[in-house]
Amino acid sequence: MFSMKLMVQVKLLPSPQQEEALAATLHACNEAANRVSVRVFETGVHARVPLQKLVYADLKAAGLAAQASLHVIRKVADAYTVGRSQVSKRLVRGRGRQRAEGKPVEFRPDAAQPFDDRCLSWWWEDRQVSIWTVRGRVRGVPFAATSEQLDMLVRYRKGESDLVCRAGKWFLVATCEVPEAALNAEPMDWIGVDRGIVNLATTSDGRNHQGAGLTRYRRRMARVRAEVQSKGTRSARRKLRRRARKEARHASCVNHRIAKEIVADAQRTGRGIAVEDLRGIRERVRLRRHQRAMLSRWPYHQIVDYLAYKARRAGVPFLVVDPAYTSQTCPRCGHVSRRNRPRRDDFRCQVCGLAGPSDHVAAVNVRQRARVAWALVNAPIADGGPEVRFAELQAHNIPS
Ligand SMILES: [Zn+2]
Repeated sequence: MFSMKLMVQVKLLPSPQQEEALAATLHACNEAANRVSVRVFETGVHARVPLQKLVYADLKAAGLAAQASLHVIRKVADAYTVGRSQVSKRLVRGRGRQRAEGKPVEFRPDAAQPFDDRCLSWWWEDRQVSIWTVRGRVRGVPFAATSEQLDMLVRYRKGESDLVCRAGKWFLVATCEVPEAALNAEPMDWIGVDRGIVNLATTSDGRNHQGAGLTRYRRRMARVRAEVQSKGTRSARRKLRRRARKEARHASCVNHRIAKEIVADAQRTGRGIAVEDLRGIRERVRLRRHQRAMLSRWPYHQIVDYLAYKARRAGVPFLVVDPAYTSQTCPRCGHVSRRNRPRRDDFRCQVCGLAGPSDHVAAVNVRQRARVAWALVNAPIADGGPEVRFAELQAHNIPS
């Protein structure tokens, strides 16, 4: 059985007292990390075990619990091992290589801190955690999670969770190890998926996935954004950032739902899923200015990422095919012409007269390419067994 790692982020809703304890803990851990970092810089010792011998007693004396000390040491050791120029900007204060190389690695006071099961326990029924802090164990910290997240956490959470503070809000980022179903090696057929601007996804079955009221939602968001932007004050900018985060959450939610529906459909009907390799859909599509403002922020690629991982979990084969001319090719007679698309939403073949919504036609073309690609994958070849072909398939590397 294979498994894949997924991160689930839940928001903590601490009382003011609990919040004070959490903040004090992050600060204490990162101060300790900075002290350890200075020792590493001075002594050159950065392997985890020798470093532990060097600083563990200090950390314990400074009031960190045993597990927290070990996590701090590991965090610092990792920061030096991966190479200081590559250390995550999220963790480390200061920008630019000069700063990073001439000085010890410096951790931000609110850099994330990992907690394992000894320092953090989850109480699912109450939707609460109890967590070690420098003020002692804090019990009954409520967290918010969707029922989907909760289900994932209850079943698959494993190992450590990161305590994170972003813009004054508290989160736990938990690691889940989710088992994958065995790959369906003999799909009956393929569902071609066309991604678009108006319909987010259209399948070769002719099904549109748009998310009810989404266009209206995006238009409203664009209008609010324009209003706030025109003010240009600091509080307006803050408001704008909050807006952006809200929009991102909404987009992610819609993309999740669409991907889930398509994968469920594929699994139920024994088919695989094929998408076009479309990076930069925004550049490909010509839009009027007001459309551009409205659509520029939608994360179009996210839906493919979600499709890919949900397909993998469900054992549904997933192919990425060549996008060239899928929107101008007639699936019946093969005629390729820009004139097959008199309007953006309409397809009308100049030779055989086949007509239909252009996104549906494009999805059918994607399906056709997947069939051809699959036939190539399964064609008998002299050497390399089925394993080789599986490896290719899983890497999504099939040329069409
Ligand atoms: Zn035709």
